[in-house]
Amino acid sequence: MIQIKSPEQIELMRESALIVSRTLGMLAKEVKPGVTTLYLDKLAEEFIRDHGAEPGFLGLYDFPNTLCMSPNAQVVHGIPNDTPMEEGDIISIDCGAVKNGFYGDHAYTFEVGEVSDDIKNLLRITKESLYEGIRQFRAGNRVGDVGFAIQQYCENHGYGVVRELVGHGLGSKMHEDPEMPNYGKRGRGKKFAEGMVVAIEPMINMGTQRIKQLRDGWTILTADGKPSAHFEHDVAIVNGKPELLSTFAYIYEALGIQSNEEDEFRKEALVL
Ligand code: MG
Ligand code: MG
Repeated sequence: MIQIKSPEQIELMRESALIVSRTLGMLAKEVKPGVTTLYLDKLAEEFIRDHGAEPGFLGLYDFPNTLCMSPNAQVVHGIPNDTPMEEGDIISIDCGAVKNGFYGDHAYTFEVGEVSDDIKNLLRITKESLYEGIRQFRAGNRVGDVGFAIQQYCENHGYGVVRELVGHGLGSKMHEDPEMPNYGKRGRGKKFAEGMVVAIEPMINMGTQRIKQLRDGWTILTADGKPSAHFEHDVAIVNGKPELLSTFAYIYEALGIQSNEEDEFRKEALVL
């Protein structure tokens, strides 16, 4: 059943989402060649606890760490380890935090040093597809509208849209109804309403959409070994329109990137 959130609950969820946003911003400065994902995991755990929250993933379904760290061909659910990152890698960092009984959950794929133009394009298109999906998350639309928008945008660029893993409702549980696939048909699926909160999270492969899982029972990677990207925002429906609860602004600030994508999105959401 879909849990509708009150305006007060949505404000608490914003607080949780922003703790994750700040954690990712802190990590953005630390992502570089020679650094291990396990080191970043420890930094994140400390940062989240220092901000009065608990890591959202640690122990959830017995996941062993604070961050899901998925480099290169890993799609999601990678486990932090002591292998140093290398120049030209990408690393998808997915982070969760829980405070006041509500979860924040979002993700960003970072470049490690200088990456190839092909990879830059994969990251850009995946992030753009996230906003394409979020635009469709408004009262009266349906789950299939979001999935269709993401799928069409990414497949038009020749990328593979992962089917087996999906976004989700978010609240007092990390995974609530409805499931939010990154593919679908317009006008199909559950209907969106005021007060719904979801995590929208395209997982997009440079090559085939097919995936496999490592024997660790967690790590998902592309079947063809090509890179994969993952961007995730937490979004509420407020006054019928999509409202971002999470932000990439701390990441952009840390990296010195000028981006008005979220401002543009907010302006546009007002007139949707
Ligand atoms: Mg996530
Ligand atoms: Mg999620």
